[in-house]
Amino acid sequence: MICPFCGKEMKKGILSGDGRSAVRWKSGEKKADFFDALADAGRVTAAKHTIASFTIESYYCGACKKMIFDTEVTAE
Ligand SMILES: [Zn+2]
Repeated sequence: MICPFCGKEMKKGILSGDGRSAVRWKSGEKKADFFDALADAGRVTAAKHTIASFTIESYYCGACKKMIFDTEVTAE
């Protein structure tokens, strides 16, 4: 993938982390809370979540320090 900010080739990789809870995104300044989790709101569908970890296939541009991945977010 070509970086839309600088035009250089981006590196394909896997973003990963602790799998104890789903990966969520919430608009504004506050992170998703317990009630968002109860409603399954804000779940980042790109994150493949298992009991031990999550992974997201993503592209990274070292020049711009930006990362891009395709996802949907479940209804807030
Ligand atoms: Zn770039």
